[in-house]
Amino acid sequence: KDFQSLNLSRPVLKGLSALGYSKPTPVQSASIPIALMGKDIVAGAQTGSGKTAAYMIPIVERLLYKPTKVSSTRVVILAPTRELAIQVADVAKRVSRFVGGITIGMAIGGLNLRRQEQELKTRPDVVIATPGRFIDHVRNSPSFNVDSVEILVLDEADRMLEEGFHSEITEILELVPQKRQTLLFSATMNSSISDLIQLSLRKPVRIMI
Ligand code: AMP
Repeated sequence: KDFQSLNLSRPVLKGLSALGYSKPTPVQSASIPIALMGKDIVAGAQTGSGKTAAYMIPIVERLLYKPTKVSSTRVVILAPTRELAIQVADVAKRVSRFVGGITIGMAIGGLNLRRQEQELKTRPDVVIATPGRFIDHVRNSPSFNVDSVEILVLDEADRMLEEGFHSEITEILELVPQKRQTLLFSATMNSSISDLIQLSLRKPVRIMI
């Protein structure tokens, strides 16, 4: 099976071939069709499994299917560390390279706060963030809000909890719309992850690779 059989658009297929991806990894084959249907997903996937593209490909497709006239932040991706957030942003740029019009913003520690604030004011379609910095922006920037978020990704959820972001994540879950799609990826499953799944997802499809 190749990416064509997943019914992806031409510009996304072009982006994948520019990345050198010729066929989907197991977590991609399993996640992409379900995410395209708008369903919530909990996926047990390690780093190296191709999990980033597993959520990024359907996200870009969904942004493409349903363009909006006013600029608004439609996707929020939370990651445990700034390094991972930067890698995720790189995948986002590459997958959407031939799509055009998709804007990507970052909210991570260690980058100039003012510049990030300016960037978030423009309401990028996709915001990739660490939970602490994301909360800072939502609290302190009146021109940035998350009312229009349609898709929330919790990447490396187990590591986010290990990093001590439980209360930030809980707060973010209360700020984003209830009616949304949520995709949760975690290398390990334990009782605190189960609690987070309970709190954040609705009738999720479970993908264990
Ligand atoms: P990730 O698990 O998202 O950190 O991805 C691990 C590595 O696999 C990264 O270097 C990706 O560029 C690469 N990768 C992801 N999907 C594919 C694919 N379908 N074909 C080849 N390489 C891939």
